[in-house]
Amino acid sequence: MTEANLSTGSNSVLLHSCCAHCAAYTIDYWRKQGYEVICWWYNPNIHPFREHQSRLEAMQSLARNVDAPFLVADGYDMVTYFRQVAGHEADGDRCQYCFRLRLARAAETARQMGIAAFTTTLLISPHQKHELVCQIGQEVAAATGIEFLYADLRKRYSDSRHITKPMDLYRQQYCGCLYSEWERFSLDNRRP
Ligand code: SF4
Repeated sequence: MTEANLSTGSNSVLLHSCCAHCAAYTIDYWRKQGYEVICWWYNPNIHPFREHQSRLEAMQSLARNVDAPFLVADGYDMVTYFRQVAGHEADGDRCQYCFRLRLARAAETARQMGIAAFTTTLLISPHQKHELVCQIGQEVAAATGIEFLYADLRKRYSDSRHITKPMDLYRQQYCGCLYSEWERFSLDNRRP
């Protein structure tokens, strides 16, 4: 499916999706709020490329399973990600550039498709910097005129994983970027 041949309605929302296990409950939640959820993938922060592809395939499987439209942005854009975070690599600093890159592209895509609202699966994860995601989503909304749909879904994180458990989808072990992989698996960071 492409952005050009997907029909959208006034109740559509573009859901920036970066993880099948976080998307499962999020799709259900916004559908129950009356929205037609269109899943959309743009995650140049996921490295290396084969890891990106594994997570993308999991998301494609979920979308088929729950009968949700699913679009994938053109290009992997890894170089753009590294240029955005260059000089801000420390944990706690780089994530704001990562969120802004992805959410700004989501809002721009929604605008091009005539969709009035966007949101993100990042809002369900207790592992993400929730307040920062919210702040950047609102800033992007103010800059683009595309509404940012916000809900604190963190308490439903385990429900989301419960939905995907029987689907036997690939599960990631770290947030996404090479820095997060390093932090996750570095000997210095391993607990005894
Ligand atoms: S830790 Fe996660 S949110 Fe932060 S920059 Fe890396 S991929 Fe992006």
